[in-house]
Amino acid sequence: MRPVKKSDAPHCLAAVKREARRIVTETGKPLVPEDWALLKDCAEAVREALARDQEGLCAYCGVRLIRSGGANTMTIEHHTPRAVDVSQMFEWSNLLGVCPGRTTYNGRQILHCDKSRAPKHLLSFHPVDDALRIPNELRVHLRGSSGKGRLGSIVAHSPEANSDVAELNLNAEPLIENRAEVIDRLRRLLSKDGSEAHMRRLYRTFTTPTADGLPSYAHVAEAYLRRKLRDRGLRP
Ligand SMILES: [Zn+2]
Repeated sequence: MRPVKKSDAPHCLAAVKREARRIVTETGKPLVPEDWALLKDCAEAVREALARDQEGLCAYCGVRLIRSGGANTMTIEHHTPRAVDVSQMFEWSNLLGVCPGRTTYNGRQILHCDKSRAPKHLLSFHPVDDALRIPNELRVHLRGSSGKGRLGSIVAHSPEANSDVAELNLNAEPLIENRAEVIDRLRRLLSKDGSEAHMRRLYRTFTTPTADGLPSYAHVAEAYLRRKLRDRGLRP
């Protein structure tokens, strides 16, 4: 899971909410999860705003949401599922941009992120509300493989974090491998040039979004480079 800072909701979302309230008032019936279809004309604006706030990355696994060529692979996810609380269906704070959540690995489909959630399961961590806790309690294992975990795996530092990692299947094999690859690539780059200036250049690359956002798993690279800088007594 990645911490997310939300900016303002797209203007059209307020109009969607007004329309939802009008329907409830006129029909006297409560909203149902299927009323999510009311978003349709605003969906693209919501996707764009989510991609901007999340620097182009999945709120759960951190993979890029927009592939080269501009195809937007984002699913709009409800942190509190529609099936649990329909009143939060159009709440900006409840909406997250997530990846398709399906990865083919050794001929098998692996589900992760929203696709591995049980329909009514509530997550303990919220990428926006728990932005400070997430890097501390869902830590990527950055050094080799040891008793605590494999390189690239997420080590949960609380029972709540452990439950979210399991629910989102964030330690699925392909995700561990993808994160380990980012760390391996940085190791190779730093073995060629381990200077402070190079470390800082790499750090900027993974923490300064371009117009397209950040590279996949930027939070993993950020954690690794922070650790490397700290090991030398330097501040990121
Ligand atoms: Zn994802």
